[in-house]
Amino acid sequence: MASTAGLVVDIVDLPQQVGALKHVHLEAAAPADLGAEMIGAQEGSPLVVDAELTSLDNGVLVRGTADVHLSGQCVRCLRDIAEDMTVSFDELYFTPEAARAQAAEGDEEADELYIVGEASLDLELALRDALVLALPFQPLCSKDCAGLCPQCGQRLDDLPADHHHEQLDPRWSALAALLPEGADAADAGAAADTAAAEDEEHR
Ligand SMILES: [Zn+2]
Ligand SMILES: [Zn+2]
Repeated sequence: MASTAGLVVDIVDLPQQVGALKHVHLEAAAPADLGAEMIGAQEGSPLVVDAELTSLDNGVLVRGTADVHLSGQCVRCLRDIAEDMTVSFDELYFTPEAARAQAAEGDEEADELYIVGEASLDLELALRDALVLALPFQPLCSKDCAGLCPQCGQRLDDLPADHHHEQLDPRWSALAALLPEGADAADAGAAADTAAAEDEEHR
């Protein structure tokens, strides 16, 4: 079964007379790559779509909402994000004749128009575009996510407010070198390892 088949709506029973309506309620599994790069509908997760189709003389107006389950990653701290979202869409699907007329009139984007199928209409097209527009370009796990500590790479939100790395201060390092081996030596060593690992990555 094609994963997108669930978003194709039958319009055989939608009269072509202008103003004729058809309500659609469907539940389908989200197709792959529905969303943006950092966040999108989780493939296979349930999608619930409610839409109203209206016949116009040049096509079918499709207005509706879709409930989607998003999964993604915070761009600051890389924590997984999982949340629900309702996305609205409002698109005109042109009849093939109307689309050809648009192209004939010199509309350079005519080949990007949504087209009504012979007896069906693919809601995935409208949903895909609406979702990409509605999703954050840079998703965050919370509005004020502090990101990662540049020294140790841990999430700052998970660390105490006074988290810091004194041992990276060169003056402190010089002092530590003068001290006999103690509890702080391990910390200094760990910091040195982290710094070395970071150097590796930058090469
Ligand atoms: Zn975050
Ligand atoms: Zn740190």
